[in-house]
Amino acid sequence: MSSRRTYRFRNYNIHADSDSPKLYGAACVTDGDSACDAHKDSTEQAAIDRWIAEHVRDTGHQHFRRTFSELVTATPGEWQ
Ligand SMILES: [Zn+2]
Repeated sequence: MSSRRTYRFRNYNIHADSDSPKLYGAACVTDGDSACDAHKDSTEQAAIDRWIAEHVRDTGHQHFRRTFSELVTATPGEWQ
């Protein structure tokens, strides 16, 4: 006996919340230096880039993971 299922798709409107701060971050992921877990978070991207430059200057580490996050609102739209 087989079963049959029907799936419907729905559109969603997703937009950034204009009044919430954007968050930037960076973490040192330099290979071979597992002891380094240095990281920085800021609401200003320039502060992250400055922190990376200072970390390279102070340690010689050159690999980082940069992140960006923001709050969004998702509103269900029409069914397709
Ligand atoms: Zn480092």
